[in-house]
Amino acid sequence: MTTTNNSMAERAAGVEISDLRKSYGSNEVLKGISLDVRPGEVVCLIGPSGSGKSTLLRCVNLLEKPNGGTIHVGGFEATDPEVNLDKMRQNVGMVFQQFNLFPHLTVLENCTVAQIKVLKRDKAKAHATAKLNLERVGLGDFGGRYPDELSGGQQQRVAIARALSMEPTLMLFDEPTSALDPETVGEVLAIMKKLAREGMTMLVVTHEMAFAKEVADRVVFMDGGVVVEEGVAAEVIGNPQQPRTQDFLRRVL
Ligand code: ADP
Ligand code: MG
Repeated sequence: MTTTNNSMAERAAGVEISDLRKSYGSNEVLKGISLDVRPGEVVCLIGPSGSGKSTLLRCVNLLEKPNGGTIHVGGFEATDPEVNLDKMRQNVGMVFQQFNLFPHLTVLENCTVAQIKVLKRDKAKAHATAKLNLERVGLGDFGGRYPDELSGGQQQRVAIARALSMEPTLMLFDEPTSALDPETVGEVLAIMKKLAREGMTMLVVTHEMAFAKEVADRVVFMDGGVVVEEGVAAEVIGNPQQPRTQDFLRRVL
């Protein structure tokens, strides 16, 4: 491991979610979710569409406000009304299905804008950090391009580099390969696998069961706003115990 990787592993924080509840109007979509990711651990969250996976991730960095329960991330209680939202969110990198890059900014600018605005870094430091993270995702030479000049897989790798440039202690991925052409899925999964190896704490919503089996320390299966089953990846995917998990896996495998 390089020094950079060691420092990342040292900075890695866990997340502790306890009895998390979230409703939209009268529709309760998270019905008391408890889920921990230990520092340096990779947890894959699987489950049918509508089961509440995205809502759960969005609650972790408070893009959604939970109705109950607690979430602790890297020394912050996200659910404390007094929490410093900006400081807390800096710890949490998020990568979405749609890459959400700024189309009018270059790749490099996409990776520096939040560093400058939120972290108040000077331009030189922000550029250096962005460059380093673009190199990490294999796009060191792409800084001057615009998003629409890149393939979907390359755009998603930029989105990962952008998140990493904020030096988060936890990375959330919400179906990061679902919108990609099949031929570019592998390059994004390879970057995620590398990050996992380097000790990043990761909570990953995915339908890529082979990835989950290979990379995840644990797999959590959600359905209808509850955790139905969780355990070692190979066990949950290879030998699920609950009928609902068995049903789901039969359909996706
Ligand atoms: P998943 O990511 O597992 O497909 P979601 O978390 O996106 O599930 O959605 C869970 C449920 O919450 C769904 O029934 C969805 O319609 C509902 N939902 C999600 N976001 C909103 C929202 N902003 N307003 C109202 N209902 C929502
Ligand atoms: Mg979703």
